[in-house]
Amino acid sequence: MQISELFLHQIIHHVKIEYPNEACGILAGTDNAVLKVYQMTNVNNSPDSYFMAPTEQLRVMKDIRQLNYEFIGIYHSHPNTGAYPSKRDVDMAYYPEAVYVIISLKDWEKPDVKAFRIIDGKIKEERVNAVTKQK
Ligand SMILES: [Zn+2]
Repeated sequence: MQISELFLHQIIHHVKIEYPNEACGILAGTDNAVLKVYQMTNVNNSPDSYFMAPTEQLRVMKDIRQLNYEFIGIYHSHPNTGAYPSKRDVDMAYYPEAVYVIISLKDWEKPDVKAFRIIDGKIKEERVNAVTKQK
């Protein structure tokens, strides 16, 4: 997955604002390159889980279609644990085509950002290619 440094900063800013709760969002773009970041509401309001409001999610999916982008994946934060999918994340990984980006705030000054594919309960790490300039 390719993402600009600017988007990464925006995402880290978002998840820090939502601390101590988990924050979540949707990534869209083309060819596995993120071109748009949607900050979503975590309706769970929880430090160890997230759930997106279905109506908000539908609106975003519609916007992605209208822009002719693809749904790339979902990001969420782990306020107190490492950047690795929890059991719940694996159980709730409904999109085999999605990249799951996890931002750990365990080290507040140096948030850890990792990306994974979760298919049939199996976790596979994917490289996050942070670029200074987007095509
Ligand atoms: Zn998680």
